[in-house]
Amino acid sequence: MAGTRVAVEEGWIPAELQVGQTGQSVRPELYVACGISGAIQHRAGMMNSRYIIAVNKDPRAPIFQVADWGIVGDLHEVVPEMIQQFKKGNRLAL
Ligand SMILES: Cc1cc2nc3c(=O)[nH]c(=O)nc-3n(C[C@H](O)[C@H](O)[C@H](O)COP(=O)(O)OP(=O)(O)OC[C@H]3O[C@@H](n4cnc5c(N)ncnc54)[C@H](O)[C@@H]3O)c2cc1C
Repeated sequence: MAGTRVAVEEGWIPAELQVGQTGQSVRPELYVACGISGAIQHRAGMMNSRYIIAVNKDPRAPIFQVADWGIVGDLHEVVPEMIQQFKKGNRLAL
């Protein structure tokens, strides 16, 4: 679990979990970006992830430029559905 500088500033996550230019660089097999705009300073720390899934309600969000799969929708609806499908052992139909 990690997040953006905004998430740190809002107090949602500790500073050591910030990904990006002034945070950590990460390169996981799968990076699921939920409600992340994809500012260049954030992308700098995660764009080399093996696969990137982005969930954002704004179809023009820059995160979709680096995402392998993009889901346009409200994360409060999409993410619970993804978790439910994973728990059932279903593969995501992307
Ligand atoms: C010098 C400098 C260094 C910086 N270093 C970093 C850094 O290391 N890391 C970093 O992350 N940022 C860094 N930033 C900040 C960066 O420019 C952005 O401001 C930040 O990454 C934006 O974070 P965000 O995507 O969480 O927020 P926002 O830009 O506010 O984006 C929120 C996104 O969530 C989407 N959204 C909102 N509600 C929902 C919903 N219900 N369902 C789906 N989507 C939703 C919106 O459409 C939007 O795209 C730096 C900036 C500067 C100037």
